[in-house]
Amino acid sequence: MAERIIYELGSKGRRAVDLPELDVPGGNLDAILPAGARRRTVPMLPEVDELELIRHFVRLSALNHHVEKGFYPLGSCTMKANPPVNEVLASLPGFTGAHPLWPARLIQGSLRLMAELECMLAEICGLHAVTLQPAAGAHGELTGLMVVRAYHENRGNPRKRVIIPDSAHGTNPASASLVGYETVEIKSDPDGLVDLAALERVLDEDTAVFMLTNPNTLGLFERRICQIQKMVHAKGALLYMDGANMNALLGIVRPGDTGFDLVHLNLHKTFSTPHGGGGPGSGPLVVSKRLEPFLPVPRIACRQDGTYEWDWDRPQSIGKVMTWWGNFAVLVRAYAYIRALGGAGLAEVSEGAILNANYLLALVGDRFDLPYSGPCMHEFVLSGDRQKKRGIRTLDMAKRLLDKGVHAPTVYFPIIVSEGMMIEPTETESRESVESFARALLEVADEVEHDPDLVHGAPYTTPVSRLDETRAARQPDLAYKRRGA
Ligand SMILES: *Cc1c(COP(=O)(O)O)cnc(C)c1O
Repeated sequence: MAERIIYELGSKGRRAVDLPELDVPGGNLDAILPAGARRRTVPMLPEVDELELIRHFVRLSALNHHVEKGFYPLGSCTMKANPPVNEVLASLPGFTGAHPLWPARLIQGSLRLMAELECMLAEICGLHAVTLQPAAGAHGELTGLMVVRAYHENRGNPRKRVIIPDSAHGTNPASASLVGYETVEIKSDPDGLVDLAALERVLDEDTAVFMLTNPNTLGLFERRICQIQKMVHAKGALLYMDGANMNALLGIVRPGDTGFDLVHLNLHKTFSTPHGGGGPGSGPLVVSKRLEPFLPVPRIACRQDGTYEWDWDRPQSIGKVMTWWGNFAVLVRAYAYIRALGGAGLAEVSEGAILNANYLLALVGDRFDLPYSGPCMHEFVLSGDRQKKRGIRTLDMAKRLLDKGVHAPTVYFPIIVSEGMMIEPTETESRESVESFARALLEVADEVEHDPDLVHGAPYTTPVSRLDETRAARQPDLAYKRRGA
């Protein structure tokens, strides 16, 4: 049956709802709405019954790929399945009904949840204090770099530079620029790790902070992290961890124990908030004791009698970085997730994520180039160079995977891998689904050899085929136009 959109369904007079009679006092709209504010033509709305309406939304919900529909190995994004029960908890009326302007005495439960979540995140990171305000990972970075700047300023010199490895997420240099720092990029060594000699060459008394992702975006653990922290601290600089990949470390390694001074986390990757589609997210910043005075206001304080209040009296704070107190519903999900799993459960999360990634790598690794060899952590990066010699690029293979009912991996990132394909299966996938994805990827590798045109023309099964992705994002044309109009 040909797809018809809702505007083309139904017929005049059909309704999905029964509206009550107009009961505006006086019964006269003219008296309430000035003539200029009223529309002059009848709006063109679809006239459909309830069943057609429901079918419309069910069909729409199935057009896009999502993790409830299939495998979603989008590297660096941790598209794992999130426990639905946490959605229920986040929508409890006591949480959703609270107004952010209510005084602290009326929201003691919400404040306690936030205070306890701060403690749990500090413990997970092996650090001292947390702000829950930042609304995303990049926002956590920005907040972190503002804290770094305030720390150095307080010691008499804000310093000039931020050092970032070439494997870093693009948000890292962007955050550094926003805070007024120059960025210096250092190349990775042949193993894909920080090149200590390159780091030594650029580290100096003008270095404010070294921003490192661990495990890095190649899915590799920085084994020399203890040496790195000594070198950085010897120059009076700070060590920042982009903790968006914390899914690999929970309960195994605490960043603070390896010398990091501050870390941001992505609650919408690691801690049970679904993401994609633009948010809302949460990127708490976790810092060591000496950085605590600079955290955003207000902080949550616990009084002697066990009640909570907002503490605005923080003279060295960088100020506020978010309207109200952060994306609260995301915090509820993270709290519930951590409490339900406990310490041992969190460690199992990361062990499962690492095991699944290494198993998948073992199943597919020899059919692709692997520029930085394993063992990997929670994700790995293949290169499509071998297939490119046959005229098929990574983009083609990614599109072909869509026909097999899975989401494509992250492609062309990190940019130091040519024809890169970054694959993160996550811990929530079963052995069977990891194996079935491996079969799909191997099928594509076979097709590249035997029927490259097939791969080149993909996808064949999606609602739209290849788009100009930049234009689709920047100038989307979403309004319905009547056919022929
Ligand atoms: C996702 C990610 C970010 C950015 O997080 P957002 O919430 O998208 O702003 C930063 N660094 C790394 C390594 C990431 O994977």
